[in-house]
Amino acid sequence: MRVAPTLAIVVPCYNEEAVLPETRRRLVNLLGELATANKISSNSAVYFVDDGSRDSTWPLIERFAAEDKCVTGLKLSRNRGHQNALLAGLFAAEGDAIVSIDADLQDDLDAIGEMVDRFCTGAEIVYGVRLRRAVDSPFKRLSAELFYRLFAALGAELIHNHADYRLMSRRAVEALKEYHEVNLYLRGIVPLLGFRSEIVHYERAKRFAGESKYPLRKMIALALDAVTSFSVAPLRLIAILGVLVFVGTMLVSGWVLWARLFSNRTVPGWASILLPVYFIGGIQIFCIGMLGEYLGKIYKEVKARPRYAIEKMASMDAQSATQRPQASSPGRVEGAHYDH
Ligand code: UDP
Ligand code: MG
Repeated sequence: MRVAPTLAIVVPCYNEEAVLPETRRRLVNLLGELATANKISSNSAVYFVDDGSRDSTWPLIERFAAEDKCVTGLKLSRNRGHQNALLAGLFAAEGDAIVSIDADLQDDLDAIGEMVDRFCTGAEIVYGVRLRRAVDSPFKRLSAELFYRLFAALGAELIHNHADYRLMSRRAVEALKEYHEVNLYLRGIVPLLGFRSEIVHYERAKRFAGESKYPLRKMIALALDAVTSFSVAPLRLIAILGVLVFVGTMLVSGWVLWARLFSNRTVPGWASILLPVYFIGGIQIFCIGMLGEYLGKIYKEVKARPRYAIEKMASMDAQSATQRPQASSPGRVEGAHYDH
């Protein structure tokens, strides 16, 4: 008989008192509907993570948790930002599949049913992707577009038009736990996990209530974090710049020497000042670039990202070939089995 997976929905909340009652109502209803349809187990739950809100978000969450068996509240000791709040929820949540979604109801909840279907047919990660960005301001659209392009040019993988609305299997979350970095950019790390991934499209609505908790300042900080966590290309640029300046110096030197030796237009002292200025400048930039190369290496080592995660093993023992083993511990084979 088919075992319905336990679903956990993680919702980071920062000063969200205006939308929270509606969010809770819709999410709890959704869990009820999916459980009635026998798509998910009746133990499924919603996890509200309060990211150090200053309004009545936490008292509200406490009330929900007291009233509803399927609601769990988590309160961070202070505001640590959306990505960290999300991570706290992902790691605390119990369940076979974990969906993360913003509190503001901009993301279409109906996509969750579809995500669960994909999970049940074997997907480990299901990305919610916006069909259009019609409701976002032109500035937000343009800045997001530029950012996605820059990120791709720097060699990192991102799912276009995907925010943090996604389903991850228990196994994918376990694999995520192996990433110990402090500067976290989930949208960049999740594609690195690998595993079978699929996309579900949805329409993005306007915020149900309240204001965006991502002012320009936080958006820039997130973008900077993303670039510096995923690419050492800016460091390499310094080395390349150094080489260019050095080559330029050689050309300028030839000209300076020529002017000094074969023309009488130079002022005394001109060549002996100009040559070292270019020469030393070029060498300095190049050396900084070399240091940058090593710094980049050290940075990668310090992050200590896992080098691989094993997805499956096949052997004579058919059991272990079909079960879902735990990520990066190929010896341990556990977890329920959902292929039907
Ligand atoms: N959020 C958070 N901590 C913060 C900022 C935002 O947990 O410091 C949450 C917020 O409550 C919401 C989600 O992150 O659930 C996305 O924020 P928002 O909808 O304001 O961003 P936007 O959709 O405007 O980009
Ligand atoms: Mg929003």
